[in-house]
Amino acid sequence: MALIVQKYGGTSVGTVERIQAVAQRVKKTVAEGHSLVVVVSAMGKTTDGLVKLAHEISTHPSRREMDMLLSTGEQVSIALLSMALQELDQPAISLTGAQVGIVTEAHHTRARILSIETERIQRHLQQGEVVVVAGFQGISSTTDLEITTLGRGGSDTSAVALAAALQADACEIYTDVPGILTADPRIVPDAQLMSEITSDEMLELASLGAKVLHPRAVEIARNYGVTLVVRSSWEDAPGTRVVSPIPQARPLEGLELVHPVDAVEFDTDQAKIALLRVPDRPGVAARLFGEIALQNLDVDLIIQSIHEGNTNDIAFTVTQSSLHRAEAVAAAIAPALRNHADPTLGEAEVMVERQIAKVSIAGAGMIGRPGVAAQMFATLAAADVNIQMISTSEVKVSCAIDAADCDRAIAALCKEFEVTSSPANLEKWGDRSQEMAPIVRGAALDLNQARLAIRHVPDRPGMAAQLFRLLAGKGISVDMIIQSQRCRLINGVTTRDIAFTVAQADADAAQTALKEASPELGCSEVTVDRAIAKVSVVGTGMIGRPGVAAKMFEAFAQQQINIQMIATSEIKISCVVAEEEGVRALQAVHAAFGLAGTEQFQVPA
Ligand code: ADP
Ligand code: ASP
Ligand code: MG
Repeated sequence: MALIVQKYGGTSVGTVERIQAVAQRVKKTVAEGHSLVVVVSAMGKTTDGLVKLAHEISTHPSRREMDMLLSTGEQVSIALLSMALQELDQPAISLTGAQVGIVTEAHHTRARILSIETERIQRHLQQGEVVVVAGFQGISSTTDLEITTLGRGGSDTSAVALAAALQADACEIYTDVPGILTADPRIVPDAQLMSEITSDEMLELASLGAKVLHPRAVEIARNYGVTLVVRSSWEDAPGTRVVSPIPQARPLEGLELVHPVDAVEFDTDQAKIALLRVPDRPGVAARLFGEIALQNLDVDLIIQSIHEGNTNDIAFTVTQSSLHRAEAVAAAIAPALRNHADPTLGEAEVMVERQIAKVSIAGAGMIGRPGVAAQMFATLAAADVNIQMISTSEVKVSCAIDAADCDRAIAALCKEFEVTSSPANLEKWGDRSQEMAPIVRGAALDLNQARLAIRHVPDRPGMAAQLFRLLAGKGISVDMIIQSQRCRLINGVTTRDIAFTVAQADADAAQTALKEASPELGCSEVTVDRAIAKVSVVGTGMIGRPGVAAKMFEAFAQQQINIQMIATSEIKISCVVAEEEGVRALQAVHAAFGLAGTEQFQVPA
């Protein structure tokens, strides 16, 4: 007999008939001899409706009252599902987050789970009842009983957290698609179902726009080794397994507040090539990285961002032994990269740094915690280390620095995060991921981002730290941070531009905060562009395989799609393009990596 946590999303409990169908499935699972805890979301689009109501009354409703309001949606569905089960003579009881004892932080509308009391659930299970728990909600403490919610889409997180706390045998997420697909089937109808995906890949996809799973649910599954499956609530197919490495034992106390950083990693065998002032037109990145791929050279970090005069800087790192050939490619291409719009800019300039080190902090606990990256930058600044390139992923922040600073940087980071350091070790992904994993597992589109650019930021250690601390202090997570590679002298001070993306909802707050701070920071203008789309591909199989980025850029070039920003980490490549080109860009990369199948998906309404 197994203990299973099943979670049913909004569409799966959207009507009375669907609730009855869920009750049938639950009863069937019990009849197979299993104990069951069922987590449900609010019916259909109930939560959206409640949000709309709130905004009809107030432009800035208080977060506490929003939690009070939104948590009602789930309370409706738990009661109805329990009734439906009782109608089938299946003993069942519904419980709210407070009744279970799902204790969270006091942060309204985005609370993290601290602990879950399991006694009451266990008691009902022992009495042969199915326990139906309201997803998405908790209480801030057992004395105040303040209702909190976990953030939109948070019922997945409730389910996986319950599975971890109860040490359940499996957590099954039932939804309106057959499992995790290579892209959102609503945008890419020929997306294919995958039978499995690693939790690292899913973490990236979930945070890059694939809302089929809440990223924090994946984080908990990864940290506690929860067996996690996503499948359709309409059919009996096996769905997709999210596979996690065997985790270190962790206490269940502070469930979502685990130590943010597990390791400091470094790689001293890196060199950097930058092309400055390349024209901002489709096909440039494709040409450069296409030539590099022809030489079979593996590129590690790539960053690109548009800067003054509407020209781009592209920078990338390679191993020191590849530098010579990569440099030759860049030098050969530079003359062809003339800026026709403004001939005074001349051809692109190649800049080489031979001795670069990459230092990284890694750990699933940093997800959704903007303060961790800020802490890394501040630590490097305090050690007087200048950061040349930054690459962020959900579970890692990497900085390219001068190799001469590497030992100092590592010592400072290890002390700050209380961990030991180790050389970057790609084998840790395992032979399996290298041999069997597809180069690209899936692709995602995020239309909810905005880009901010800050001009003329003084080029000295500590600037990234200051910016990040400022935004982290306001709870704003920053993504894709890119500093220009070229410098400009302003009043005798060397400056660079910095561009980054944030969630659209945070764009105004970020701009205001930066504008207020700009006299003190010594920088000038702060601009915002909301009409952007971020398109990403993810796959552990891309590690150590040349040509992946080139293929993505080529797919865009063929469609005449201009790339505004590029940022990569070990297992993902993200590009910012114009908003109106987002869907076409996603479809193009999905096809380019051979992810499309012959079947077309019909997503239920
Ligand atoms: P639920 O209410 O069951 O939690 P969600 O709407 O939150 O459902 O998540 C399911 C939806 O996620 C699907 O209908 C699909 O449109 C979307 N989605 C986005 N990316 C993917 C992907 N890679 N695979 C499957 N579904 C995806
Ligand atoms: N009902 C909540 C939402 O719509 C939580 C969830 O469905 O996961 O965001
Ligand atoms: Mg969901």
